[in-house]
Amino acid sequence: MGTTTAQRVRRIKPSPSTAAAQRVRELKAQGLAVLDLTVGEPDFDTPDHVKAAAIEAIRQGETKYTPVSGTPALRAAIKHKLAERHGLSCSDDRITVGGGAKQVIFLALMATLDADDEVIIPAPYWVSYPDMVLANDGTPVVVDCPEADGFKLTPQRLEASITDRTRWVILNTPGNPTGAAYTVDELRELAEVLLAHPHVQVLTDEIYDEIWYEPGQVPSLATAEPRLTDRVFLTNGVSKSYAMTGWRIGYGVGSPSLVAAINTLQSQISSCPSSISQAAAAAALTGDQAFVRECVAVYRSRRDVTLKLINDIRGLSCTPPSGGFYAFVNCADVLGKQTPTGEVIGTDEEFTRYLLESQQVAVIHGGAYGTPGYFRISFATSTDVLTEACERIARACAALY
Ligand code: PLP
Repeated sequence: MGTTTAQRVRRIKPSPSTAAAQRVRELKAQGLAVLDLTVGEPDFDTPDHVKAAAIEAIRQGETKYTPVSGTPALRAAIKHKLAERHGLSCSDDRITVGGGAKQVIFLALMATLDADDEVIIPAPYWVSYPDMVLANDGTPVVVDCPEADGFKLTPQRLEASITDRTRWVILNTPGNPTGAAYTVDELRELAEVLLAHPHVQVLTDEIYDEIWYEPGQVPSLATAEPRLTDRVFLTNGVSKSYAMTGWRIGYGVGSPSLVAAINTLQSQISSCPSSISQAAAAAALTGDQAFVRECVAVYRSRRDVTLKLINDIRGLSCTPPSGGFYAFVNCADVLGKQTPTGEVIGTDEEFTRYLLESQQVAVIHGGAYGTPGYFRISFATSTDVLTEACERIARACAALY
């Protein structure tokens, strides 16, 4: 007899991006030349000075448990970033460090949700939020944020979604999968609503903050409305900005009571993240930032090429992302059409399957992000692959009738 799993496991599903990546691997193993636009991590290598810091940490014997809330060096590096980017000065008891932003977000929910507490999740959303809420006994309250609203939560929709049971609102800016980001004014409008509901906290996921295509820096709620400081939990990490997805370091900045609760959980779950990865992350945050600028320049040119090609395809359109490395493409106009073999493309998922089977282009359907009628392209691949993939997508669309 197999293991009887707990209800919390039965409530959740594995990440659709992981499932898509697995499908691509299977097709490649069958010898098919699949162009993979599903990837959710940078295609660059971790910078050498970051690797060198990790090697030095090993040489220096920094190979033991660290404080639960992270090494002093990493906390100092995070404070450095908060001061530089947000003008925030922040005490140690406001910072927690974990095994990726994903783990920090999970622990924040675990530390605060009781059964049936609600978490407002604007859609399109990062695939993990609803399942993380469900795994922690909460109820995801998904709020549709249409393209006409820039894929962003409006104050009206926020107000209408808040109940006595609301514990959190999650704001991912710039967002995965859309690349949409809130302006300072938009954040202040949301803050006005939140100020009237003191029981609601806001988790801002700013993991793509450095991958930014607009002038200046992406605004953050933590600084846009100082009256919310104690109710905002800002999460970030080094995975995307420094091509360090495998090092597993993320952090959260919030009220001392929340941070203490997260640290209590972490002390019983993992004790601390890897000491070596923490040394590497500290070097990434305090060292030369040229790497980030170079990556953003490359992502920007890939974004521009992809957008031009996609927007030239009849039936598809895409709002330019302000940050991140994804394009969220509207495919509503191709739904209802027929493939050359006579099958009707009824949904975004069927369209992405058609792209994979007829042209060997792998993308992720919008339904995975709570927003059917779209699909996500990742620019974390070369311009040649992106160009070839867009040409194949154009061929697939032209063959529909
Ligand atoms: N938040 C968003 C919006 C993401 O897209 C991802 C990764 O895909 C994460 C968080 C997780 O980041 P980390 O590698 O730090 O766990």
